[in-house]
Amino acid sequence: MAIIQCKMCRKLFDSLSSKICPDCHKKIDLDFIKVRDYIYDHDEGKISIDKVAEETGVEKPIILHLLREGRLIINNLEGGEGALLCEICKKPINTGRMCKNCQDKVASSVQKSAGGSKPAEPDKPPPQADAKRGGGMHTRR
Ligand SMILES: [Zn+2]
Ligand SMILES: [Zn+2]
Repeated sequence: MAIIQCKMCRKLFDSLSSKICPDCHKKIDLDFIKVRDYIYDHDEGKISIDKVAEETGVEKPIILHLLREGRLIINNLEGGEGALLCEICKKPINTGRMCKNCQDKVASSVQKSAGGSKPAEPDKPPPQADAKRGGGMHTRR
C-alpha cells in the first residue's frame, strides 16, 4: 500500500492501484451515469464537452477523464476547443488517448523494438563455441 495524492481532489489516500481516492471514484461513477445518459439522449447532432459539462453539471476534467479511460465514447463529439485530442497527432478523437492510426503505429513499433533486440543474440554463440573448440585443441597435450 502507498499513500498517494488523489488526481481529482488532491487529497492524500491509501492507494492499491488507483490514482483516484474512493470518494472521487463514487463521485465519478455518479457523474459517469449522468454524462452517459446525456449522451444517449442527445445522440443526434454534434455535442461538445463544454455543452455536456454545462448541461449535466459534471466538471469538464471528469468528462475528459472518463473519455481517456475509454469508459465514455462520444461518437458525435464536436471538434475544436474542449474536444478530446489524440496525444500524438492531435486529431480529434471520441475516446481513449490516441486515434486508431497512432494506436496501430505505437503497437507496431513496440512489436519491432521487442523483436529487434532478441534475434541478435542467438547468432553469437556458434562462433564462441568454435573458438572454445579451437582453444581446446591448443591446450591438449
Ligand atoms: Zn479524490
Ligand atoms: Zn493520432
